[in-house]
Amino acid sequence: MKSYLFNFKNLIKKYKNLQNFDIFKIFFAIFLFIFIIFLILNENNIQYFLNGFNSLSNFQCYVLDVGQASSTVLVFPDKSVFVVDTGSVDSAKDMISQMDYIFSKNKIKDVDCLILTHSDADHVGGTTQFLEKYQVNQILRPKILSESEFEVEIDENYLVSTTVTYSNAITSIYKEPNCQVEFIEDTYFDKFGIEIFAPVKDFDKDTNYYSPFIKIEYAGKRLLLTGDATDEREKEFMQANAEEKYDFLLVAHHGSKYSSSIEFLEFVSPTYALISAGDNTHPSQEVVSRLKNLQVKGIFCTKTDGLIGISVFSQGNLKICSLRNQFDFPLLVTVVGCGIFVILGTVSRDKRKISQLS
Ligand SMILES: [Zn+2]
Repeated sequence: MKSYLFNFKNLIKKYKNLQNFDIFKIFFAIFLFIFIIFLILNENNIQYFLNGFNSLSNFQCYVLDVGQASSTVLVFPDKSVFVVDTGSVDSAKDMISQMDYIFSKNKIKDVDCLILTHSDADHVGGTTQFLEKYQVNQILRPKILSESEFEVEIDENYLVSTTVTYSNAITSIYKEPNCQVEFIEDTYFDKFGIEIFAPVKDFDKDTNYYSPFIKIEYAGKRLLLTGDATDEREKEFMQANAEEKYDFLLVAHHGSKYSSSIEFLEFVSPTYALISAGDNTHPSQEVVSRLKNLQVKGIFCTKTDGLIGISVFSQGNLKICSLRNQFDFPLLVTVVGCGIFVILGTVSRDKRKISQLS
């Protein structure tokens, strides 16, 4: 009878151990299942986990998360870099940290060309910090004069911006060593497939008018950057160019309803729309509706998506990643899951030890 009871107790212990072990295994299976589902639902996450956000190779374009401002980085397959605008004074630190991240992943040291689209503070505000941090070989600046003592060309016919931010930016660009500074003109960078469409007029009282259109073509895919282009500039662009489909459009003026006319959007017919915005009124609902009516495949906005990255492979296939929404969640699931996994594993092992001792 005694030996029977003893065996029975052992049997219960064994069963309890088995139960712990089963909970452990079941939890692991559920966690793995959920994690795999998350990865399958978002192919970009797999790219992130396999390659890292910005080592997707070939041509890369990044719309930086700089709040209600604008800064875009273009990385070419040979690791040449173009930067278009430097965000605002307030966002300069964020801009630099995102650039550091992109540049270190791509092993980039120097910037080939900086383009300042126009004089507004949300586009030139980070210029001083940017030039302090990186060596830039060429700078293209708008034909808007400043009150900087370094201003080289004084032409009475040109618009003068009296803001301190613009003046500081102009001072910094002329202080940059070994750097060629030029006004924005119609330019074609053959090597990079970059075409710049400068404003037609030399003078306009609206600083946004000065925004150039920057077209980049790589592996048959087209990207159009617009700065804060006005509807007048959009008309100039339509007059000077043939109607062409663009794969990516950086929507003008942070998605303001006064730009991105229906005619212009139909003319460039974007597959994906990218918006740099960060306040309550941008992007405007009107522009979002216009884009939705055009049935664009996707609208990405830095306000909700954070840093947006595009990669175009040499065969012409695309990848789009956004830093805020897409990799944080699976990462959270992984970290929490691993934490619970370890705790359950430890508890289960301890229980087994206790039961072996008793
Ligand atoms: Zn702006």
